[in-house]
Amino acid sequence: MEKYVLALDQGTTSSRCIIFDKKGRICSTSQKEFTQIYPKSGWVEHDPLEIWSTQIEVVKEAIDKLGISIEQIDSIGIANQRETTICWDKNTGKPIYNAIVWQCRRTSDYITQIKDSGFDSVIKEKTGLIPDAYFSATKIKWILDNVEGAKEEAEKGNLLFGTVDTWLIWNLTRGKSHITDYTNASRTMLFNIKALNWDKEILDRLSIPINMLPSVKPSSTLFGYTDKDVLGKEIPITGVAGDQQAALFGQCGFNPGDVKNTYGTGSFILMNTGVDPIMSEHGLLTTIAANPEGDDVQYVLEGSVFVSGAAIQWLRDELQIIESSPESEELALAVEDTNGVYVVPAFTGIGAPYWDQYARGIIVGITRGVNKNHITRATLESIAYQSYDVIQAMKQDSGIEIRNLKVDGGASANNFLMQFQADILNTSIQRPLYIETTALGAAYLAGLATGYWKDKDDIRENWELSKIFKPSMDEQEREQLLKGWQKAIKRSFSWAE
Ligand code: ADP
Repeated sequence: MEKYVLALDQGTTSSRCIIFDKKGRICSTSQKEFTQIYPKSGWVEHDPLEIWSTQIEVVKEAIDKLGISIEQIDSIGIANQRETTICWDKNTGKPIYNAIVWQCRRTSDYITQIKDSGFDSVIKEKTGLIPDAYFSATKIKWILDNVEGAKEEAEKGNLLFGTVDTWLIWNLTRGKSHITDYTNASRTMLFNIKALNWDKEILDRLSIPINMLPSVKPSSTLFGYTDKDVLGKEIPITGVAGDQQAALFGQCGFNPGDVKNTYGTGSFILMNTGVDPIMSEHGLLTTIAANPEGDDVQYVLEGSVFVSGAAIQWLRDELQIIESSPESEELALAVEDTNGVYVVPAFTGIGAPYWDQYARGIIVGITRGVNKNHITRATLESIAYQSYDVIQAMKQDSGIEIRNLKVDGGASANNFLMQFQADILNTSIQRPLYIETTALGAAYLAGLATGYWKDKDDIRENWELSKIFKPSMDEQEREQLLKGWQKAIKRSFSWAE
């Protein structure tokens, strides 16, 4: 009887389930979108019950589609949207407020207070994060301060906090496990990433009772068993990681210097830096990698580009110069270069390594001959330049040379973009056959703990290359183009100040 590993991929807009076989091949998938709730400008929420119901429905659907019995599921892995915060009643299992989503800006004022008081340096040193409303800590505080009776119930020990993984495990085990993994804990801004425990000083500062918090484990170990009433059988949940760390694991980013870039709406770049956490001097985040139990804890440097694939959507939806995202490649290849044009898609400011929230988008270098092909090409190139800037910062912070870059996400399908990225970085790029690396990473973590996969080498054998992009640009041209980009991006700074 063939066995499979089931991965839950709980994302920001949809819940997905993918079933993998031993070769890491996708055997069945199912996906359901859920409601995005915007109660006020800048606020984003999800209904935790809808997260749970869509997730369990897709699990059942994926199993049915494949036509296997529940006995054939070896184990379950979970990859999830990170930082999103849920608080629920320990006795009834009912959420006391909607999930406050990572994108939600409602707690910006708390962050300003933290920064004004100088406590930000303590937080950075202990958690590896630059204090921001993005992380869970101030979201929990907001719930305690704003939901009636929450503070009292929390102090009495009747309230539980969890990131989305914790919430799903709690429901899958019918309240038997209140647990998370290091990668998710490291995004709460409450977890000491060196001591590997919840940090008393930060908790006290934010008045968050420690008894609300889940226990924390490595990413590949036993987190609990699904309750018999949920799927008809007790199945071990043995892999858990935040989505970006799961993707790095799914890309077999096991060694220092391994880097992956996920080109989605934004780009998320993670570099494995080994067993010592490196504190960035360029505004990158230090966070924990997905590690199996028994292995030394490894760390990553993380940087993100706010607008990457979204810039292609902008060409499609606002400028309407392409009909579909893939069409951008045709237009870019119809010209030899951008004719001197640079697009800087700083629609919402610029992140690492510049950190200018008042930067805004610009198009520079326009002359009479510039047409939509040039603009499209320059927009694609901007995705590569922005990633280049983050990767340069990683190299400088870590002193580690990057051997190659592994890519995934929707826009990694664009061959022009990938070749240009390889050229600008002067580094080879490997695109795997299966770009569902987030779910795959969760599955690998789960299957490693049960022995479904023997070890990391066993997993590495599954990694199949679809295409390699080798740098082929001459050095002079590369330097020239980068110089132009650096000039262009500076023009975008402080625009909206
Ligand atoms: P997310 O998970 O953030 O929703 P996906 O990984 O599904 O993102 O990727 C979707 C993004 O990739 C969109 O912004 C889309 O414009 C972009 N995209 C998809 N295909 C291409 C392509 N062939 N060329 C350029 N961009 C693309």
